[in-house]
Amino acid sequence: MRDTTKHQGLRNQLASILEAKGITDKSILNAVRNIPRHLFIDSSFEEHAYQDKAFPIAANQTISHPYTVAFQSQVLDIKKGEKILEIGTGSGYQTAVLLELKTMVYTIERQHELFKKTSVFLPKIGYRPKRFIFGDGYKGFPQQSPYDKIIVTAGAPFVPKALLAQLRVGGKLLIPVGEGEQVMTLFIRKSLKEFEKHELGDFRFVPMLKEKN
Ligand code: SAH
Repeated sequence: MRDTTKHQGLRNQLASILEAKGITDKSILNAVRNIPRHLFIDSSFEEHAYQDKAFPIAANQTISHPYTVAFQSQVLDIKKGEKILEIGTGSGYQTAVLLELKTMVYTIERQHELFKKTSVFLPKIGYRPKRFIFGDGYKGFPQQSPYDKIIVTAGAPFVPKALLAQLRVGGKLLIPVGEGEQVMTLFIRKSLKEFEKHELGDFRFVPMLKEKN
Protein backbone atom coordinates (compact mmCIF):
# COMPACT_ATOMS: atom_id res chain seq x y z
CA MET A 1 0.00 0.00 0.00
CA ARG A 2 1.74 3.09 -1.23
CA ASP A 3 0.94 6.73 -1.72
CA THR A 4 2.97 8.52 -4.39
CA THR A 5 3.25 11.97 -5.96
CA LYS A 6 1.32 10.55 -8.92
CA HIS A 7 -1.58 9.74 -6.57
CA GLN A 8 -1.29 13.23 -5.09
CA GLY A 9 -1.53 14.73 -8.58
CA LEU A 10 -4.64 12.69 -9.34
CA ARG A 11 -6.22 13.82 -6.07
CA ASN A 12 -5.59 17.46 -6.92
CA GLN A 13 -7.35 16.85 -10.25
CA LEU A 14 -10.27 15.15 -8.52
CA ALA A 15 -10.62 18.14 -6.17
CA SER A 16 -10.78 20.45 -9.22
CA ILE A 17 -13.48 18.28 -10.82
CA LEU A 18 -15.53 18.44 -7.61
CA GLU A 19 -15.04 22.19 -7.43
CA ALA A 20 -16.33 22.51 -11.00
CA LYS A 21 -19.38 20.46 -9.98
CA GLY A 22 -20.24 22.91 -7.21
CA ILE A 23 -18.23 21.91 -4.14
CA THR A 24 -17.01 25.24 -2.81
CA ASP A 25 -16.12 24.38 0.79
CA LYS A 26 -12.32 24.62 0.95
CA SER A 27 -11.94 22.26 3.89
CA ILE A 28 -13.83 19.53 2.00
CA LEU A 29 -11.68 20.03 -1.12
CA ASN A 30 -8.61 19.81 1.12
CA ALA A 31 -9.90 16.57 2.61
CA VAL A 32 -10.19 15.15 -0.92
CA ARG A 33 -6.62 16.26 -1.62
CA ASN A 34 -5.39 14.57 1.56
CA ILE A 35 -7.17 11.20 1.67
CA PRO A 36 -5.52 8.35 -0.28
CA ARG A 37 -8.75 7.03 -1.82
CA HIS A 38 -6.88 4.35 -3.78
CA LEU A 39 -6.19 2.56 -0.50
CA PHE A 40 -9.93 2.29 0.22
CA ILE A 41 -10.79 0.21 -2.82
CA ASP A 42 -9.70 -3.11 -4.25
CA SER A 43 -6.28 -2.76 -5.88
CA SER A 44 -7.70 -4.03 -9.19
CA PHE A 45 -9.63 -0.73 -9.43
CA GLU A 46 -6.74 1.39 -8.23
CA GLU A 47 -6.30 3.29 -11.49
CA HIS A 48 -9.92 4.49 -11.27
CA ALA A 49 -9.69 5.62 -7.67
CA TYR A 50 -9.50 9.31 -8.51
CA GLN A 51 -12.27 9.45 -11.06
CA ASP A 52 -15.64 10.59 -9.81
CA LYS A 53 -17.00 7.04 -9.66
CA ALA A 54 -18.54 4.61 -7.19
CA PHE A 55 -16.84 1.20 -6.82
CA PRO A 56 -17.44 -2.20 -5.29
CA ILE A 57 -15.95 -2.81 -1.84
CA ALA A 58 -16.44 -5.96 0.28
CA ALA A 59 -19.81 -7.62 1.01
CA ASN A 60 -21.52 -6.42 -2.19
CA GLN A 61 -21.41 -2.80 -1.08
CA THR A 62 -19.99 0.27 -2.81
CA ILE A 63 -17.81 3.23 -1.92
CA SER A 64 -19.89 6.30 -2.82
CA HIS A 65 -18.96 8.71 -5.64
CA PRO A 66 -16.51 11.34 -4.39
CA TYR A 67 -19.04 13.96 -5.50
CA THR A 68 -21.76 12.40 -3.35
CA VAL A 69 -19.46 12.28 -0.33
CA ALA A 70 -18.42 15.91 -0.86
CA PHE A 71 -22.00 17.03 -1.50
CA GLN A 72 -23.33 15.37 1.66
CA SER A 73 -20.48 16.86 3.70
CA GLN A 74 -21.11 20.33 2.26
CA VAL A 75 -24.87 20.27 2.82
CA LEU A 76 -24.34 19.33 6.46
CA ASP A 77 -22.21 22.47 6.93
CA ILE A 78 -19.88 20.68 9.31
CA LYS A 79 -17.95 22.68 11.90
CA LYS A 80 -14.80 21.74 13.81
CA GLY A 81 -15.54 19.82 17.01
CA GLU A 82 -19.06 18.71 16.10
CA LYS A 83 -20.37 15.32 17.15
CA ILE A 84 -21.45 13.31 14.14
CA LEU A 85 -23.26 10.01 13.69
CA GLU A 86 -22.63 8.22 10.40
CA ILE A 87 -24.84 5.36 9.21
CA GLY A 88 -23.03 3.05 6.77
CA THR A 89 -19.28 3.01 7.47
CA GLY A 90 -18.60 0.98 4.34
CA SER A 91 -15.05 1.58 3.12
CA GLY A 92 -14.59 4.41 5.63
CA TYR A 93 -13.95 7.06 2.97
CA GLN A 94 -16.80 9.32 4.11
CA THR A 95 -15.65 8.75 7.70
CA ALA A 96 -12.16 9.96 6.72
CA VAL A 97 -13.64 13.11 5.16
CA LEU A 98 -15.58 13.83 8.37
CA LEU A 99 -12.43 13.31 10.44
CA GLU A 100 -10.43 15.64 8.17
CA LEU A 101 -13.03 18.25 9.16
CA LYS A 102 -11.89 17.73 12.78
CA THR A 103 -15.11 16.26 14.10
CA MET A 104 -15.95 13.50 16.57
CA VAL A 105 -17.41 10.64 14.57
CA TYR A 106 -19.49 7.65 15.67
CA THR A 107 -19.97 5.33 12.70
CA ILE A 108 -22.30 2.34 12.36
CA GLU A 109 -22.02 -0.59 9.93
CA ARG A 110 -24.34 -3.60 9.78
CA GLN A 111 -22.11 -5.89 7.68
CA HIS A 112 -19.69 -7.63 10.00
CA GLU A 113 -17.07 -8.15 7.30
CA LEU A 114 -16.94 -4.43 6.49
CA PHE A 115 -17.10 -3.40 10.14
CA LYS A 116 -14.06 -5.59 10.88
CA LYS A 117 -12.09 -4.58 7.81
CA THR A 118 -12.64 -0.84 8.09
CA SER A 119 -12.19 -0.65 11.87
CA VAL A 120 -8.67 -2.03 11.38
CA PHE A 121 -7.84 -0.15 8.16
CA LEU A 122 -8.86 3.44 9.04
CA PRO A 123 -6.76 3.80 12.23
CA LYS A 124 -3.85 2.21 10.37
CA ILE A 125 -3.78 5.15 7.95
CA GLY A 126 -4.33 7.67 10.75
CA TYR A 127 -8.13 8.14 10.86
CA ARG A 128 -9.65 7.51 14.27
CA PRO A 129 -13.38 7.90 14.84
CA LYS A 130 -14.56 8.00 18.45
CA ARG A 131 -16.15 4.63 17.86
CA PHE A 132 -16.84 1.97 15.22
CA ILE A 133 -20.19 0.37 15.96
CA PHE A 134 -21.38 -2.96 14.60
CA GLY A 135 -25.12 -2.49 14.60
CA ASP A 136 -28.33 -1.43 12.93
CA GLY A 137 -28.35 2.15 11.67
CA TYR A 138 -32.16 2.32 11.87
CA LYS A 139 -31.71 2.51 15.65
CA GLY A 140 -28.91 5.08 15.60
CA PHE A 141 -26.65 5.13 18.67
CA PRO A 142 -28.68 6.70 21.49
CA GLN A 143 -25.85 6.25 24.04
CA GLN A 144 -24.02 9.28 22.57
CA SER A 145 -27.00 11.39 21.47
CA PRO A 146 -27.77 14.18 20.83
CA TYR A 147 -25.67 14.66 17.67
CA ASP A 148 -24.96 17.90 15.82
CA LYS A 149 -25.19 16.10 12.50
CA ILE A 150 -26.37 12.68 11.32
CA ILE A 151 -25.40 11.42 7.87
CA VAL A 152 -26.91 8.34 6.23
CA THR A 153 -24.91 6.85 3.35
CA ALA A 154 -27.36 4.11 2.26
CA GLY A 155 -30.78 4.49 0.62
CA ALA A 156 -33.47 4.44 3.32
CA PRO A 157 -37.01 3.29 2.42
CA PHE A 158 -38.32 5.66 5.12
CA VAL A 159 -36.93 8.14 7.65
CA PRO A 160 -36.16 6.31 10.90
CA LYS A 161 -37.76 8.15 13.84
CA ALA A 162 -34.88 7.13 16.09
CA LEU A 163 -32.49 9.22 13.98
CA LEU A 164 -34.66 12.34 14.16
CA ALA A 165 -34.94 11.82 17.92
CA GLN A 166 -31.13 11.70 18.32
CA LEU A 167 -30.55 15.16 16.78
CA ARG A 168 -29.92 18.13 19.02
CA VAL A 169 -32.16 21.17 18.47
CA GLY A 170 -30.48 23.03 15.59
CA GLY A 171 -28.94 19.77 14.35
CA LYS A 172 -29.21 18.32 10.84
CA LEU A 173 -30.01 14.88 9.46
CA LEU A 174 -29.10 14.18 5.83
CA ILE A 175 -30.63 11.02 4.42
CA PRO A 176 -31.28 9.65 0.92
CA VAL A 177 -34.92 8.49 1.01
CA GLY A 178 -36.54 6.07 -1.41
CA GLU A 179 -36.32 2.62 -2.94
CA GLY A 180 -34.40 2.24 -6.20
CA GLU A 181 -33.64 5.93 -6.57
CA GLN A 182 -33.50 8.24 -3.57
CA VAL A 183 -34.23 11.89 -2.88
CA MET A 184 -31.48 13.46 -0.78
CA THR A 185 -33.44 14.86 2.14
CA LEU A 186 -32.26 17.30 4.79
CA PHE A 187 -34.06 17.66 8.13
CA ILE A 188 -33.22 20.55 10.44
CA ARG A 189 -34.46 20.23 14.00
CA LYS A 190 -36.14 23.53 14.87
CA SER A 191 -37.42 22.56 18.31
CA LEU A 192 -38.16 19.39 20.23
CA LYS A 193 -41.15 18.68 17.99
CA GLU A 194 -40.53 20.64 14.79
CA PHE A 195 -38.37 19.69 11.82
CA GLU A 196 -37.81 21.64 8.63
CA LYS A 197 -37.49 19.47 5.52
CA HIS A 198 -35.58 20.20 2.28
CA GLU A 199 -35.34 17.95 -0.79
CA LEU A 200 -32.02 18.23 -2.61
CA GLY A 201 -32.20 16.11 -5.76
CA ASP A 202 -31.96 12.49 -6.86
CA PHE A 203 -29.16 10.09 -5.98
CA ARG A 204 -28.62 6.34 -6.13
CA PHE A 205 -27.30 4.45 -3.09
CA VAL A 206 -27.17 0.79 -2.06
CA PRO A 207 -30.20 0.03 0.12
CA MET A 208 -30.23 0.53 3.88
CA LEU A 209 -31.07 -2.92 5.20
CA LYS A 210 -32.47 -4.28 8.44
CA GLU A 211 -30.92 -7.01 10.59
CA LYS A 212 -27.22 -7.50 11.01
CA ASN A 213 -25.10 -10.13 9.30
N1 SAH B 1 -19.93 5.81 3.37
C1 SAH B 1 -19.59 4.60 2.66
C2 SAH B 1 -20.74 4.19 1.77
C3 SAH B 1 -20.90 2.74 1.77
S1 SAH B 1 -22.36 2.11 0.99
C4 SAH B 1 -18.30 4.77 1.86
O1 SAH B 1 -17.91 5.91 1.61
O2 SAH B 1 -17.70 3.77 1.52
C5 SAH B 1 -23.51 2.02 2.34
C6 SAH B 1 -23.09 1.22 3.54
O3 SAH B 1 -24.22 1.20 4.43
C7 SAH B 1 -22.73 -0.23 3.26
O4 SAH B 1 -21.48 -0.50 3.83
C8 SAH B 1 -23.84 -1.02 3.95
O5 SAH B 1 -23.43 -2.27 4.46
C9 SAH B 1 -24.25 -0.06 5.07
N2 SAH B 1 -25.61 -0.29 5.61
C10 SAH B 1 -26.72 -0.71 4.95
N3 SAH B 1 -27.77 -0.78 5.81
C11 SAH B 1 -27.30 -0.42 7.03
C12 SAH B 1 -27.89 -0.30 8.34
N4 SAH B 1 -29.19 -0.60 8.56
N5 SAH B 1 -27.11 0.12 9.36
C13 SAH B 1 -25.79 0.44 9.17
N6 SAH B 1 -25.18 0.35 7.96
C14 SAH B 1 -25.92 -0.08 6.91
